[in-house]
Amino acid sequence: MAVFIDGKAIAAEIRATISQRITSLKITPGLAAVLVGDNPASKIYVRNKRKACDEVGIYSEESVLPEDTSEADLLACIDRLNRDPKIHGILVQLPLPKQINTRRILDAVRPEKDVDGFHYMNVGKLVANEKGLYPCTPLGVIHLIQSTKTQIAGAHAVVIGRSDIVGKPAALLLLHQHATVTLCHSKTGGLDAICREADIVVAAIGRPRFVTEAMVKEGAVVIDVGINRLPDGKLVGDVDFEGVSKVASFITPVPGGVGPMTIAMLLSNTLQAAEWTR
Ligand code: NAD
Repeated sequence: MAVFIDGKAIAAEIRATISQRITSLKITPGLAAVLVGDNPASKIYVRNKRKACDEVGIYSEESVLPEDTSEADLLACIDRLNRDPKIHGILVQLPLPKQINTRRILDAVRPEKDVDGFHYMNVGKLVANEKGLYPCTPLGVIHLIQSTKTQIAGAHAVVIGRSDIVGKPAALLLLHQHATVTLCHSKTGGLDAICREADIVVAAIGRPRFVTEAMVKEGAVVIDVGINRLPDGKLVGDVDFEGVSKVASFITPVPGGVGPMTIAMLLSNTLQAAEWTR
């Protein structure tokens, strides 16, 4: 039976360390969230980020713009935050309304303040394995794997999902930790057999309970990034937790696995950005 990886507890430890590091810093790190429109899920997410910032001693503020905001107005808001010395991290809550070119907005954030790691400069640094700000969820995934003391170097890691925010950067981070990485997606043939070869499985698909017991090798470490709401309101991951727990050595739950780590990594990136300004 798999050991449960307690993302909530690990995230709490990371937040405690961040909080300590902030007390010895001469400046207060600041995070600005930019929210366009009225998406209720985004509002909840931003509220949770604010709470987490308050807990560790990061100053936070929100810029809320109406759904019909023009690209020029959003760029002006980002420009203001780019120049604000109180602000070390800027995150633009996605998705943005369709009149706005998302790539243009993400690249308008100063790379040193790009705590989501979505600016092309940071994407390039991640590919080149150079110091930069990397996306939060994949950083959380690596922390969770490391928490199990599993040796990543030389392991075969199978990442399912190739999105720019989760799958692709997770695959790169694993590669930089010297895993042999297979990056799978919706067009991958023979996925079940590939997955059964994996020592580490990272599921970032967005399909409830997609990864089943039959797809997982005995003793594999399974990290479930997925968050899916079932018609009855229940939240489940991309992994069939009950079945896969019987064969995996370690497994993350949903909720309480990767989710809390994403916010912890956002705080960590904000602290990092603030430290780099000193
Ligand atoms: P996405 O929709 O951008 O990407 C999904 C990926 O899954 C695609 O690359 C696609 O090729 C692949 N895929 C789809 N169907 C497949 C199939 N049948 N076989 C193999 N691959 C398939 O999604 P995303 O933004 O990467 O998010 C993935 C999941 O992770 C979602 O459930 C999302 O809610 C969740 N998520 C969680 C966190 C967190 O903090 N825990 C953060 C971001 C995303």
